[in-house]
Order: sequence, then structure tokens, then C-alpha cells
Amino acid sequence: MPAGRVAYVDGRYSRHGDAAVHIEDRGLQFADAVYEVFMVMGKLLFDEEAHLDRLERSLGELSIAMPIHRGALKVVLREMVRQNRIVDGFVYLQVTRGVAKRDHFIPKAAQPSLILTARPFNAAAIEKRRGNGVAVFSAPDIRWARCDIKSTALLPNVLAKSASQAKGGYEVWFVDDNGFVTEGGSTNAWIVTRDGVAVTRALSNDILPGVTRGAILQALKDEGIAYEVRSFTVEEALNSREAFVTSATGGAMPVVTLDGKTIGNGHPGSVSARIQEAYMRLATREAVSNASRKNSG
Ligand code: PLP
Repeated sequence: MPAGRVAYVDGRYSRHGDAAVHIEDRGLQFADAVYEVFMVMGKLLFDEEAHLDRLERSLGELSIAMPIHRGALKVVLREMVRQNRIVDGFVYLQVTRGVAKRDHFIPKAAQPSLILTARPFNAAAIEKRRGNGVAVFSAPDIRWARCDIKSTALLPNVLAKSASQAKGGYEVWFVDDNGFVTEGGSTNAWIVTRDGVAVTRALSNDILPGVTRGAILQALKDEGIAYEVRSFTVEEALNSREAFVTSATGGAMPVVTLDGKTIGNGHPGSVSARIQEAYMRLATREAVSNASRKNSG
């Protein structure tokens, strides 16, 4: 086992700095690739099955085959956690259509490539951010019409998030042609109405079906917290009690300003905090039972 950070490329574990892909990999040439990010807490993979379900769906929409069987992929995910000695961190997984002579036409015989990296995260820094809340800036949603596919073609997200960052923001909220918020650059968008109802946009081709969004909707059901699945505008968000964004990497992260204007009282809200706790309970329970199932069989 190599020392230090370890990456995985097509069946081989190697030192992170030595790992490489072919220059004619279609992931590099065309962003002909999809990805997933798994959160690891206490060495456990969170929402593993839902991430793998979404990976299979994204690949299916692009007619890319799973590079290895799902069971084998779970073994690689666990090896990445183990070999990188991750206690709290992330595993990043990418599947590309594979290597072929550069040509727009989809090659008939490419072998999909599988790439994984992992890194620890600073749990204290994330909790500090959760304690402060984050700033969001809105921007027109100029992305393509298949945002439901977790494609690595993230240039609009990269540009919009960076424009937000230049203004002191942490995230962007994309806004569709009708003035409704679609989602964040790497998160799903939520508000909490003045009546305490959590609201997030319905699934469609306009947004990524966030695994954390899905798990939180389940947690809201389980705990009897009121919610609505519908669109909302920037104006409604500005008049709401709370707002937050969700992702595997941050759970439910409170939003305290939007376009430089305060949301609610300008501090992370109690409903968002309750939702984060409910999510963590549900996800931890599931991760523990998933891990013990694996150990026993
Ligand atoms: N929306 C977009 C555009 C994303 O890129 C992400 C995560 O990367 C999300 C939403 C949140 O998805 P998840 O909860 O599965 O991390």
C-alpha cells in the first residue's frame, strides 16, 4: 500500500501525485464523464446507495456502461477510505466514457474509465461555517437543459461560483428565465417560510437530484417537519424566515444573506439547524447499518 494520499485509476491504486489518465480520455477532451462525491464521517460512507443509484442513472442517460459491478465499486470506495486513512472526509469518483481518438462521435468500443480520489476535511471549519451561515449571490442560469445529469461539464458553475466568491459569497443561486431559483452551483436551494415550512424546488431536468436533498425530504417526513416541493423566487427568499443549501459536502448549510441583503434575522435559523440534525440522525443510522451489513456478509 503506497504511503500518503492514494488515488485509484482503472484497477490500480497509486500515489496521488503519480496517478494519471490518458490524454485522449474523453473526460478530458469533451467532459464526456459523470461524477459523485461521497461524504465520509467516522470512516463511514454516507448515503452510499443513493449516490450509486444516481451514478447508474447519470451513466444510463449518457449510454456509458458501469466500469465495474456495483459490488466491486463498493469495495473500491471502502479501500479508498481505508488506504487514505479517512476518518472525516470525501471520496470523489468519476467515470468517463474512456479513451478514444479525439472525435465528437461517440466511439463504439471505448472502455469506461474509473477514477477515484479522497481527502480528509476539516470538520471544525465546516461547523464554524454552519455556525456563521454563508452569503449567496444570484445569477442567471445559463447552464444546459440536462442539469439532472451529474456531468463533469461544470464550467458555468465554476464561473458563477467564482463570481459570487469575488463578491464575498460562498455559493451562487441560479435563477431561471421566469425568475425562479433553480439550485446552487454545487448545492440544492431551500428556504423556510415565515410559517416554518421548508421549501425546495421539484425535481426536473433543471436541477440535480441532490442526494442530500432527497435524504432531507425523507428526514422531514420522518420527523413531521412541514415542507413543500415547489419553486420560489429570489424575492420570496429575501422575505423568508431562513434559507439554506444542501450538499453531500456540507449537509444543510444556513444562508444568511442573498445578494447582499439579510435573510430573516441575519443569523442561522433554528429550523435549518433542526433539519441538519434530523438529516445527520437519518444518514448516520443508514451508514452504520450499511457498514454492519457489509461486515456480516
Ligand atoms: N446541485 C448541484 C449543481 C451540485 O453540483 C450538487 C453537488 O455537487 C448538488 C446540487 C448537491 O447534491 P448532493 O446532495 O448529492 O451532494
